[in-house]
Amino acid sequence: MPYPPDVFKMTKEDLVDISIHDFPPGTTLTPEQVLHIFNSLGALHINQGEPNAPHYRLTSGLCSDTYLDCSKVLCYTGLCTLFGTLLARKYSAALGNAFHAPAWVIGSDHSAATLSFVVANHLGCRHDFTQKTPDGGQTWGRHRIMPHESVLQVEDVISTAKTLEQVLGAINQKNPSPRLEPFILALINRSRFSEWDSRRILCLAKVEAKTWLPDQCPLCKKDSTKILDPKSWNNQP
Ligand SMILES: [Zn+2]
Repeated sequence: MPYPPDVFKMTKEDLVDISIHDFPPGTTLTPEQVLHIFNSLGALHINQGEPNAPHYRLTSGLCSDTYLDCSKVLCYTGLCTLFGTLLARKYSAALGNAFHAPAWVIGSDHSAATLSFVVANHLGCRHDFTQKTPDGGQTWGRHRIMPHESVLQVEDVISTAKTLEQVLGAINQKNPSPRLEPFILALINRSRFSEWDSRRILCLAKVEAKTWLPDQCPLCKKDSTKILDPKSWNNQP
């Protein structure tokens, strides 16, 4: 296999076998390559207006042209390690000569838990993730973060700021005023913002999803099937 491998020429079976060992320091994946891997593994579909392809109902009730489920990629440990390490390298490169490892890397429950572990492992710092509460929130309670210790937040995907807010709120509740690193890491940024809470978002790829009110949805008008519960939808090719 050439280094780094050309993911556009690879089968699904080969894609799930790629690992960080195929991407020595100085190499990375382009955003297009990241999205190609997601597409190939059924983790991403964007309906470009095709009536014969589905579209998706969001939790908010809006229609969307985009399906995205990072867990379908991150369940492959080689890919999770690859993406987490590339994010950690991106963080190091962004800090340049000012590089320092954060004291803590913190992710959210669920998919960001393993990804954030890989980032922490590469940076050589402590790690944990918040836990989901029955009402859909996030809670933190296993560790005390000291005032002089810094926190780097890591998410698998940023759609709205909701999970970032929940994680930061959970940390704040038990550890008032943690020192936050100037970046947030995300595998995919599907939000419209490039920074949040005065911290720049570093991502491996961006996805621009379109949403509509159901009565204004052009895909509904074309009789595209609307997937009502995308989270439990099996889109594995
Ligand atoms: Zn629709």
